[in-house]
Amino acid sequence: MIIDGRDLATQIELEMKEELKELGTPKLAAVIVGADEGTKSYMRSIQRVGEKLGIEVEIVSLSEESNTEEVKDVISGLNSKKDGIIIGRPFPSHINEQQVITSILPEKDIDCLHPINLGFLFLGVPRFNPCTPQAVIEILNRTNTTIRGKRVTIIGRSNIVGKPLAIMLIQRGVDATVTVCHTKTHDLSAHTREADILIAAAGHPWLIGAEMVKQGAVVIDVGVNMNDGKLVGDVNFNEVEPKASLITPVPGGVGPITTRVLMRNALLARCLSASL
Ligand code: NAD
Repeated sequence: MIIDGRDLATQIELEMKEELKELGTPKLAAVIVGADEGTKSYMRSIQRVGEKLGIEVEIVSLSEESNTEEVKDVISGLNSKKDGIIIGRPFPSHINEQQVITSILPEKDIDCLHPINLGFLFLGVPRFNPCTPQAVIEILNRTNTTIRGKRVTIIGRSNIVGKPLAIMLIQRGVDATVTVCHTKTHDLSAHTREADILIAAAGHPWLIGAEMVKQGAVVIDVGVNMNDGKLVGDVNFNEVEPKASLITPVPGGVGPITTRVLMRNALLARCLSASL
């Protein structure tokens, strides 16, 4: 079965409606520093989803030449004005991204990048759930996929997808057995073929072919890659779909849910702002 990410995204929007009415308009800032077209278009898509829901997203564009201190200063100003702050990554290489991240007040860090928020996540008491990993978990839960005791293989160990997702899946109560693969993994197929749930987050077009997937596996494709001017995932969808019990397409799979999880985090940040 093909999972319709847009459909699940609409479900999440409906669930937020009542809370949004009560809380008023959350105000977010998206800070970008001389960003590439991909990052700008991602931020505009967040802005559009926000508009639809009644969440204000101001895109704060800084010049490519801005230095770390200037970016931190802008964020300091936004900390007192906005409910939530996100940043467009990657930043230009001369900017110290970690310093910028830690200049966001943890209560406003709706992308869950701040070490304090990652610490809470690690301990199993998250304040904000990181958006893409949580989108994967939403898909599994909303399709009634059993996670407990299942073998999950994640391809990718980034701080925004693979690593936090692994932490979330091994928490008590979620109870998966997780293997995390990366560029130095030997015999990737041996790990992917073992997976009841396979999650691809490598950023490598069509890395996963049918021969790498167990019959009946659930396959979640986080990857977003441009290939010959077309958006494709890390999974060769046409090959793998007949073998998978559930599979997400690209586009229209994980992406729309990620933005709704971000908006739900914005609601939580609004509540936290009210109590500061
Ligand atoms: P990243 O480049 O930071 O990390 C990629 C990871 O994959 C690395 O840990 C690397 O070791 C591993 N990897 C790369 N090629 C591999 C290979 N051939 N074999 C095994 N491991 C390999 O990327 P990221 O920020 O984690 O994003 C991963 C992908 O997910 C990208 O395509 C990105 O665009 C996409 N993404 C999608 C969403 C969404 O909401 N749909 C959100 C974030 C990222």
